[in-house]
Amino acid sequence: MLKVAKKINIITLGCSKNVVDSEQFAVQASMAGFEVVHNLDEIDFNIAIVNTCGFINDAKEESINMIFQLVNLKNSGKLEKIIVFGCLAQRYMNELKAEIPEVDVFCGNYDVSELLNLIEADFDKKHKYDRILDSPGHYAYLKIAEGCNRQCGFCAIPLIKGNYVSRAKSDILEEAQVLASKGVKELIIIAQDISYYGYDIDKQLHLPELIEELSKIKDIKWIRLHYLFPFLFPESLLDIIANNPKVCNYIDIPLQHISDNILKKMKRGATKKQTLELLSKMRQKLPDATFRTTMLVGYPTETEEDFNELLEFISEFKFDKLGVFTYSEEEGTSAAKKYTDNISEEVKNHRADILMERQREISLSLNSLKLNQTLRVIVDDFDGDMYHGRSQYDSVEVDGEVVFTSDVDLVAGEFCDVIITSYDEYDLFGEKK
Ligand code: SF4
Repeated sequence: MLKVAKKINIITLGCSKNVVDSEQFAVQASMAGFEVVHNLDEIDFNIAIVNTCGFINDAKEESINMIFQLVNLKNSGKLEKIIVFGCLAQRYMNELKAEIPEVDVFCGNYDVSELLNLIEADFDKKHKYDRILDSPGHYAYLKIAEGCNRQCGFCAIPLIKGNYVSRAKSDILEEAQVLASKGVKELIIIAQDISYYGYDIDKQLHLPELIEELSKIKDIKWIRLHYLFPFLFPESLLDIIANNPKVCNYIDIPLQHISDNILKKMKRGATKKQTLELLSKMRQKLPDATFRTTMLVGYPTETEEDFNELLEFISEFKFDKLGVFTYSEEEGTSAAKKYTDNISEEVKNHRADILMERQREISLSLNSLKLNQTLRVIVDDFDGDMYHGRSQYDSVEVDGEVVFTSDVDLVAGEFCDVIITSYDEYDLFGEKK
């Protein structure tokens, strides 16, 4: 068993789902008497515990670079132990063990008891639902499931995380209660795919009722939904978003593409017609909602026609927020097995640039419609001069901000009304009313 020192740095890479795992482990480690820091820049600690990402090449590189930085610290005697877990380790366990022997332990997917065992600590049941938040404290991610039952051709997540497992509703509600008691006002609902919640249990889609129950928690003011999926979609959710004042008018629904030729080859399960029907139903029920999506360009065999169809689609639909990825071949995925990665990096990047340039124009014109509007804003931060916050139309880290002045002092997590006086393609600017 490891002779452990007292200061642990939990280094979290990758997605918001990793953040939740690290936050849960942090509270358990601190209950076991360790001083816990959760910080990429910290250099004074005895044990490094790295939560890695193994989704796509860039993310893998970032995780491996971080591990080597820690190996250098260890080799220079500034660090005693390195423990690596998460998606990269789950996916490449044997290769990593062989190539980086300086790492003391590689663990696969997050398992709190396994990690605690490595630092000779026991799971503290009293703090089962507790977390040390890696955020300012007024918002928190709430993970409702793990794994994925979709078969998207480009995606390695089902290979890493396995099949979809919904968390028990009672556990999710307990955790939300604990978060609310810690001052969290905004819950950001996440999973690989939240639309599917409950379907693995009884072939019913239970997300709508879960959201309704979460909204009954008094101190929770905003509930934001991330990672909706366009196929097997719980349509009654739209009425809840429309009628429940706590549920943000915010639709995050990664679509990846729109041409049937590519959607079919991506095995997305939804056709162009089904996608357009769902989106128009959403717009009818939620005319004021913000739409966020991500697109993937350069998928094997993507033709100029497929790409132009995608460009035309985003130009017509006008998403408020759009992220673009270029296809990266991931071994073990059905796309890697079936197709040659035949689109050059140059063409992939060129197509991504064209989409982002079009989106910049769209975001600018959509933000101009917010001029002179009054928005309810949650305060995130004060930079000594301006307050930074978000309306229900902006999520943390991935979207723009509302940057504003105030003649009274405000604190993070406070809500206020801001009148919008100017804008650019990302942010809105204003004054507190
Ligand atoms: S929905 Fe598709 S892209 Fe998302 S995690 Fe599942 S397989 Fe991957």
